[in-house]
Amino acid sequence: MFENYSQYVAAQTDGDTDQLKASLYDNLPVAIYTCDNSGYITSFNKAAVSLWGREPEIGKDLWCGSWKIFNSSGEQISLDSCPMARTLKEGVAIEGEAIIIERPDGSRVNVRPYPTPTFDSNGNLSGAVNTLINIDIVTEAEEKQALLASIVNTSDDAIISKTLDGNITSWNLSAQKMFGYTPEEALGKHISILIPPDRLQEETVIITNIRNGRKVDHFETIRLRKDGSEIPISLTVSPVLDSTGKVIGASKIARDITSQIQAQQENARLYEEIKALNEKKDEFIGIASHELKTPLTSINGYLQILSRLNTDEVSKKFVSKTIQQVKRLTILVSDMLDVSKIEAGKLQFSSEKFNIVSALANAIELIEHTHPGNNISFNVNSNRSTVYGDPHRVEQVMINLLTNAIKYSPAQAQIEVTLTTNNDEIHVSVKDKGYGIEASKVNQIFSRFYRVESTNPTISGLGIGLYISKQIIERHNGKIWVESEPGKGSNFIFSLPLKN
Ligand code: ADP
Repeated sequence: MFENYSQYVAAQTDGDTDQLKASLYDNLPVAIYTCDNSGYITSFNKAAVSLWGREPEIGKDLWCGSWKIFNSSGEQISLDSCPMARTLKEGVAIEGEAIIIERPDGSRVNVRPYPTPTFDSNGNLSGAVNTLINIDIVTEAEEKQALLASIVNTSDDAIISKTLDGNITSWNLSAQKMFGYTPEEALGKHISILIPPDRLQEETVIITNIRNGRKVDHFETIRLRKDGSEIPISLTVSPVLDSTGKVIGASKIARDITSQIQAQQENARLYEEIKALNEKKDEFIGIASHELKTPLTSINGYLQILSRLNTDEVSKKFVSKTIQQVKRLTILVSDMLDVSKIEAGKLQFSSEKFNIVSALANAIELIEHTHPGNNISFNVNSNRSTVYGDPHRVEQVMINLLTNAIKYSPAQAQIEVTLTTNNDEIHVSVKDKGYGIEASKVNQIFSRFYRVESTNPTISGLGIGLYISKQIIERHNGKIWVESEPGKGSNFIFSLPLKN
């Protein structure tokens, strides 16, 4: 069993600073104790023991170290309905509700408890800390003062006050823990003992703001410990005013942001690592697709020769099937090459005035030829159809949208292509009655390598067609988007500026 809080902490940690903080906490003139979220007392200081007139057993006593408690009207209340118990049960702080503590020797003391809940990093209630103010011996002003002092001294942030000349006038426990100076060493010294020489100018800027009544909020900087080592902190400095409203000094709160900075650095490092890996992957895709293109062109050439030879029907059928498969492979390789060109900013575009109706008709004809059995209607609802850009690239977009409309619909798909104009824009819509896309996935389908796996896991693809289409349309100063409902179908629409 532990004699006091310092011993308890010493048993839990071997850090000098934690030990130091525990010993300072133990000697605070204000009674403080803590409970875990089940109500068991986990720590208490000497002032609490003297207030209770007894020493509770850590991990055994519940809610409060008092022997007996009464409300201000003198009625006894059970310990499990004391203010600390209510704070732990309801998760809220209770402010200054007076109670009477009776010690085992029968003496009584009027106390105002200030129980405050504590939460872990996930926001779950981890326990509570209670400050007990003996109101028999303090005036109201002193009570407030004592409460403030206990808050300042139990804060994890360094809280320091100084005059306008920069002389330190108060120094809490966390300031000692953070910077290594005891109050005796710090009080009366100039604040510049904490400031690295190359940052002294910051103090002038801070004091100028304070003199003008302005607060300095969350200023991230570096300060020095007593041993000369640097500590990254986030600083908030506020003016201290006298009763006439005149600025007479400054109070500063310093938060140690070492772990935050380390996390930021780790994130930046991971980001660079992922970026480098991504670049390597892009480089590989570029090289692989480039290297695959040359033999594919030769294979295609030889197959064309074979198809013209006078061979038997079976051979002709196999050659024709092989040509179809080589075409598919050529499209995949050329899409991969386009992706790596887009990433390198090297995708080539021609620039010319052209009639989009013919580009759309070409794409529809090609798809009807390669996917017989699907029904594609083409409605042109405008007599304006001239756009500016690369007709082959726009055709490529159309081929991709039509291929997807067929791929992501049951067999014998019905597809409607419609061209309309709206002010200075042309709108092309490709509407299917297929599987559709969940609303939560709609924004992602235009990203590189993104596929909605749940649509139909057996449908193959690389997840780059829509990405390339978006890049092409945006290079033409247009937009592409989709309206879709799962089970009902999708409508892919792109707009392009009209040219006179
Ligand atoms: P791929 O078809 O090769 O997977 P795309 O980039 O063309 O790549 O399409 C990305 C994803 O968007 C597809 O994997 C599919 O999940 C979804 N998608 C595209 N077009 C349609 C469509 N018409 N209907 C339903 N889902 C579609």
